[in-house]
Amino acid sequence: MALDTNSLRVAFAVVAFTVGILFYFGDFLSTRSPYSGWWSISLALFLIGSAVFLLDGTAFGWLANPLGNSLLVAGACAVWASARSLRALHPPVWVLVAGPASSAVAAAVDRPGINPWAGDGVFLAFMCLMIGLAARELWLGGPESSRIRMAMGVAAASVAIFYFCRLMSFILDGAGSSRYNTFFGSAVTTLVGMAFLAVASFSMFALSSENRARVLKTAAAQDGLTALLNRAGFLQEAGDELRRMRLDGRHGSLVLADLDHFKAVNDSYGHAAGDVALKAFAGACRAAVRSGDLVGRIGGEEFILLVPGISAERARFIAADISNRFETASAAARFPMPTASYGIIPIGKETADLEELIAAADTALYMAKSLGRNQAVIGSHGG
Ligand code: GH3
Ligand code: MG
Ligand code: MG
Repeated sequence: MALDTNSLRVAFAVVAFTVGILFYFGDFLSTRSPYSGWWSISLALFLIGSAVFLLDGTAFGWLANPLGNSLLVAGACAVWASARSLRALHPPVWVLVAGPASSAVAAAVDRPGINPWAGDGVFLAFMCLMIGLAARELWLGGPESSRIRMAMGVAAASVAIFYFCRLMSFILDGAGSSRYNTFFGSAVTTLVGMAFLAVASFSMFALSSENRARVLKTAAAQDGLTALLNRAGFLQEAGDELRRMRLDGRHGSLVLADLDHFKAVNDSYGHAAGDVALKAFAGACRAAVRSGDLVGRIGGEEFILLVPGISAERARFIAADISNRFETASAAARFPMPTASYGIIPIGKETADLEELIAAADTALYMAKSLGRNQAVIGSHGG
């Protein structure tokens, strides 16, 4: 191969340095995400590791081999940690230490001053193992399923396979063989490393912006005080759920709740106490329904629930349960929680659209208020 290894190593170092700086300042500092942090560390380790190899063949060869091998394996460990953090898992420290330490020792006892391939068997095995494990983490995925993650997984798997073939050739042909040097020598490896660096860095950037978009989307649909869905969030999700219910022919109920004389809580105990009551009511709603049911705060002290598969009569029990739980919160809050009134609308096969259901629930709620509050009224839509 006509490519000169040392020039390639310099090129690799320049690419790793540039990408590393861009990544650290452009991504990690703003996101502070663990995978971004680990990837920045990998880039730094790959950079220093490959720079150390420039000393190979000089008087410092005895240092270059153990240190370089160990830094590159540490970089691969950081790639694995980065991939693992996408699944919100922490890397065990011993795994991070075992590879670099074994590679350093293997090279140190293998005449590193005169043997350019000192400890390379162990080095290649760990590179293959750690990058392979990174590919596995990416394959297993995170909470989000992402094409970007799969692309990274394929890139990591390719690099792991390359290192596996390189290891096999190292064992079977020997480091001095022409096959090893043509297909798996330092020049080819450096090129493979550069390609991986580019793919992984680009993917990490893309992953970060995907995450940011998701965080913003979640925040936009959430009520800041109670962490329930806000009005827009509820309308969006409940609209989707209603369509699914209609397709599956499922019934359910819509429940609108409004705290009674809530203004008096603010007036008597202060606005902060009012907020405590709102949070307590939100907690009572969440606790009274199943995790998949939709609960939102659609006005100041107005809440809304969509409970698929629950008849209006059963929804009345849910309302009573919410009121009980809400009352129980008085003790901890050291002021009496107000009562609440509910308007319940059954959702049948001839389902009206969400706006109509909410308007009907509002009418039933108004009825509950005028009947003296602290009760639930079952209404109907369209009549
Ligand atoms: P009713 O039984 O007829 O529903 O009487 P009410 O006092 O509950 O109803 P009204 O609509 O007169 O008052 C609602 C009050 O809710 C007025 C407003 O100050 C208060 N409120 C709205 N949003 C918040 C909030 O985020 N925090 C607090 N503490 N109070 C709020
Ligand atoms: Mg009220
Ligand atoms: Mg109100």
